[in-house]
Amino acid sequence: MTSHPSPAATASGEPLSAPLASRVLVLNSGSSSLKYQLLDMRDGGRLAVGLVERIGEQTSRLRHTCAATGDTREQNGPIADHHAALKAVAGELSRDGIGLDSPELAAIGHRVVHGGKFFTEPTLIDDSVLTEIERLIPVAPLHNPANLTGIRTARALRPDLPQVAVFDTAFHTTMPEYAARYAIDTKLADRYRVRRYGFHGTSHAYVSRATARLLGRAPEEVNVIVLHLGNGASASAVRGGRCVDTSMGLTPLEGLVMGTRSGDLDPAVIFHLRRVGGMSMDEIDTLLNKRSGLFGLCGDNDMREIQRRIDEGDAGARLAFDIYVHRLKKYIGAYYAVLGTVDAVAFTAGVGENAAPVRAAAVEGLAGLGLAVDPGLNAVRGDEARLISPPDARVAVAVVPTDEEWEIAEQTYALVGKGV
Ligand code: ADP
Repeated sequence: MTSHPSPAATASGEPLSAPLASRVLVLNSGSSSLKYQLLDMRDGGRLAVGLVERIGEQTSRLRHTCAATGDTREQNGPIADHHAALKAVAGELSRDGIGLDSPELAAIGHRVVHGGKFFTEPTLIDDSVLTEIERLIPVAPLHNPANLTGIRTARALRPDLPQVAVFDTAFHTTMPEYAARYAIDTKLADRYRVRRYGFHGTSHAYVSRATARLLGRAPEEVNVIVLHLGNGASASAVRGGRCVDTSMGLTPLEGLVMGTRSGDLDPAVIFHLRRVGGMSMDEIDTLLNKRSGLFGLCGDNDMREIQRRIDEGDAGARLAFDIYVHRLKKYIGAYYAVLGTVDAVAFTAGVGENAAPVRAAAVEGLAGLGLAVDPGLNAVRGDEARLISPPDARVAVAVVPTDEEWEIAEQTYALVGKGV
């Protein structure tokens, strides 16, 4: 498990004003799922980790792991809604003696996908915050309603406890206006809130700081290109700890080739599919979000399977891999230019942390930019942040495991510790 810096200080390095309770429950509510972790901020330990899936169906499942005992328990059977799901989670935590009623619980931190321009920092939740998150539903129709349900459920269970919203978009609100705006009519864009917001912000924030730490430097001193390559994938350019550009836009569809999302394409492809292909807008939406990317190209969205097929000589899988890597390389080049000088390129999330061939291919031929991967170091597997560039490289290339739950917990705890 990744080690964390002193949890007794806030993200900005200030000491906490000694809150007594030390635990934070992190909740990540999807439309039919609820992921959670209970963390102890005194020692950075994970007390419990779990997931409720298929909420609202007959085949719901709760999988709960207690860190103290190492026990994993499963509940199978219908869980009607998020309220029932959280009650079931609370029951599991109580069985382990770490229930929601414990005085050790300091706060609940909620992942909220879209905070628009409005939320630039983690925010203590009250009714007006809920109203604003609700107002953002038109730009995040899949995510914000589920996040709201999770918050409302948690508030109903523990109305006395501070609850904090940590936004995926917040880290990107430092992007300059020229990076955040699309080149379309300004008034129209403002009326409909059309701009580039960026996502995966908690991961980009965590990984850019962890990369600075790996280099033995302060985040303010380094420029980092972060490549978050999971099922969803995004790149960011981080100058001195602040995001100056990122590849996702109004929604998480823009940018890199992803598991099932197309990433960048000529917007006229949509008109063409509508007018010439006769597809409805909903069909095109589904096509680009759920049936494109690696999956659309070769029928598989899992990089492990694609690598296996390439090893067997499969040309379709090879082409999908090459398209994926080509886009990635273009973003590395673009963000190199945006930053001017780059101290490190950091790979993270499922593909970035595990797929050595993707990392090698992404920087291949970039020696002129000072970027290279040492094949021996790149092949090493592990859970810790590590360098994979040769020791004399001008730019460090690193694998830095992300930890969004920790980042949410730390931001939540820092805010509650300030006594806000
Ligand atoms: P999510 O966006 O769902 O949080 P993750 O960050 O967990 O995604 O990444 C999931 C993806 O990581 C999988 O779809 C798979 O493509 C990739 N992945 C996981 N392990 C490996 C591995 N050992 N080698 C290559 N790819 C991997």
